[in-house]
Amino acid sequence: MYQTSTNITQKYCQEMHYNYVGNSVFGVSTFTEKERESEIGYSYFGVRYYDSDLMTGWLSVDPMADKYPGLSPYNYCAWNPIRLVDPDGEDFKVVINERKKTMTITANIILYTKSSIMGKNELENSAKYYRQSINAWFKDKNGESWTYNHKGKIYSIDFNVNIIVDTQAKNKSRRHYNGINNYIDINPDDGFRSIVYNSKFGTWAKAISKQNSARHEFGHLLYLSDRYYDDENSEKGYVPHKGWEGNVMGERYGEVQQRNITEALDKYFKRNEEK
Ligand SMILES: [Zn+2]
Repeated sequence: MYQTSTNITQKYCQEMHYNYVGNSVFGVSTFTEKERESEIGYSYFGVRYYDSDLMTGWLSVDPMADKYPGLSPYNYCAWNPIRLVDPDGEDFKVVINERKKTMTITANIILYTKSSIMGKNELENSAKYYRQSINAWFKDKNGESWTYNHKGKIYSIDFNVNIIVDTQAKNKSRRHYNGINNYIDINPDDGFRSIVYNSKFGTWAKAISKQNSARHEFGHLLYLSDRYYDDENSEKGYVPHKGWEGNVMGERYGEVQQRNITEALDKYFKRNEEK
C-alpha cells in the first residue's frame, strides 16, 4: 500500500519532511531512524487517497459540515493531489511506558483563523471552550482512565492534548505537519459547521460555549469515522447509526466510550505495523 515517492514529491514536501521528528516518541517502532525516513517520510499519499477502504477512515470529511469551497483536500501539499503526502502517516503519537503500563496519546491542535474579523482574544476564547469539549475524551464519566489491550497487556490511557493559538499559522509556511500537529482554521461565521480533512486539518466553527463540535471533531483527528447518516430529505436530518445513539461519533454532543478509544488505537497500531 505504501510506495517510496519520487523526487518530485520530495521536492515539494521537503519542508514537511525536514520537520519530521518521530524517533523519540515512537514506542512501537522497530525501524532505525534511517529506515523510518525512507519508509514513512515519503509515504505516497496519492496511493492511499484513491483507496476506497481508506476514503472513509483516513480522509475524514464530515458530512455534518457544510461544504466549504475555500478548503479542499488538495491544498495540503503543493496544491496538487498527485503530490499529496502524509509525511509520517500520523496526527497523534502514542508513547508507551512499559513500566507504568500506560499509553499517552499526544497531539497538538493549533488554532488560527483566515478571517480578518476575528482577533487573538476570540481565538483564545474558542480554545478555552474547545478544551472543555475535548476534555470528554480524557476520562470516562466516573473519572476513570480508559484502557487498551495491546498484545495481551492492558494499558491505562493518558492524554496529552495541547490546544494552541498561533495567529501566524494562516501563513502556509508556518504550518508544520510533524506527526502531532493538527492545524485548524477557526471560522467566526455562526452558521458554519466544523469539518476535519485528512484527520489532521480542517475548519471549525468558532466556539461560544463548551457545547461545541470539538469533541466530535477530535474523534476524526484520532482517525474515527462518522457513525451517523446525513439524510437531507428526512425531517430527522442527522440519524445515528443503529447502536451508536449517544456516542460521540454518532451525535455531536454524544459521550466518549471505551469503544472509541479501542477503535482509535487499533487503527493507530495497525497503521504502524503496516509500515
Ligand atoms: Zn464527523
